Amino acid sequence: MASLREVLNQHVREGELYEPIDRNRVRCYACGHCCPILEGQPGVCKVRYNEGGKLYVPWGYVGGVQCDPIEKKPFFHAYPGALAYSFGMLGCDLHCSYCQNWVTSQALRDPNAVSPPLQASPDLLVKDALRQGAKVLVSTYNEPLITAEWAVAIFQEAKSAGLKTAFVSNGNGTPQVLEYIRPWIDFYKVDLKSFDDRHYRQLGGRIGPILDTIRRLDDMGVWLEIVTLLIPGFNDSDDELCRLAEFLAGVSRDIPWHVTAFHKDYKMSDPDDTKPEDLIRAAEIGKNAGLRFVYAGNLPGRVGTLEDTHCHHCASMLVRRYGYFIEEYNLTANGCCRDCGNAVPGRWPERFEGQIADRPFLPGHSSSFVTIR
Ligand code: SF4
Repeated sequence: MASLREVLNQHVREGELYEPIDRNRVRCYACGHCCPILEGQPGVCKVRYNEGGKLYVPWGYVGGVQCDPIEKKPFFHAYPGALAYSFGMLGCDLHCSYCQNWVTSQALRDPNAVSPPLQASPDLLVKDALRQGAKVLVSTYNEPLITAEWAVAIFQEAKSAGLKTAFVSNGNGTPQVLEYIRPWIDFYKVDLKSFDDRHYRQLGGRIGPILDTIRRLDDMGVWLEIVTLLIPGFNDSDDELCRLAEFLAGVSRDIPWHVTAFHKDYKMSDPDDTKPEDLIRAAEIGKNAGLRFVYAGNLPGRVGTLEDTHCHHCASMLVRRYGYFIEEYNLTANGCCRDCGNAVPGRWPERFEGQIADRPFLPGHSSSFVTIR
């Protein structure tokens, strides 16, 4: 039986985000590592490799698909209640020891991460998304930047079918990859894991490219939301959270910031699970820094009104939530507060059509996807 590496090497095509350095090396620009890659070697992510002076990149498969409420991504200011059809590939450019998607993200590093790929095409994915009633197609589960060429091929098809598109990403980008995806992407979630470069180095990255990505996406006008998974003892000091929130508010006070609760996962089992009072403290720090929309996630019903969206002018309830479930929706057709008429930052539907699903589920007809062996 073929190894996972052999299987994946049969599902590649030449990439577009690279250039030659010299006879033996190419440089990849798909993520902030900007790896110089020697002939016959892969980059840090393990899924892009140099063969004969060409960079080969993943193509023609998914590590999995799932339908999620868009609130799970989480996007709270982009088509509330919409169904997000999510797909991912395999591999990641970081190696976070608490990764909640480690089975797909660490598939080529960790022999315990077993996730057989499924044969896929842009046409098949878009048709399946439409059949489920999805409004948004999302590249997630592994790091989408490292498979940007494949995501763009799918998003081109998705946009011509009227779907919105999104990345759920660690934000370790480059100017080149952000310009490359720009025409094809509507929403972007960055997982800002810390505001300390030493912490980022523990996870295999650097903070600089991530902060640059946040600034660039905001400049580009891509709808952006930020998530920070609050890990007790790792990234939750008042000082670090204060610096992080002040940075975001300095980019734009309208960027929604979600602080979410850690639970023990993968190799990080020392920290305690995050408590509701920790999320509430972080949210207070965000508001004091000037952020207008701060949310506390993962602990439904235990964080007061921090799951809800309030008007930043008159404080009226705009969207009431319980977990992923939308309980009340009070925006006008043009995305304004019904009480005071002020525009609310975000991407809103003309009409709230109710919620298709308030919990994740596997798409029906999934037999359309054939496991690659
Ligand atoms: S995607 Fe990032 S980690 Fe992978 S080869 Fe390119 S620069 Fe290196």
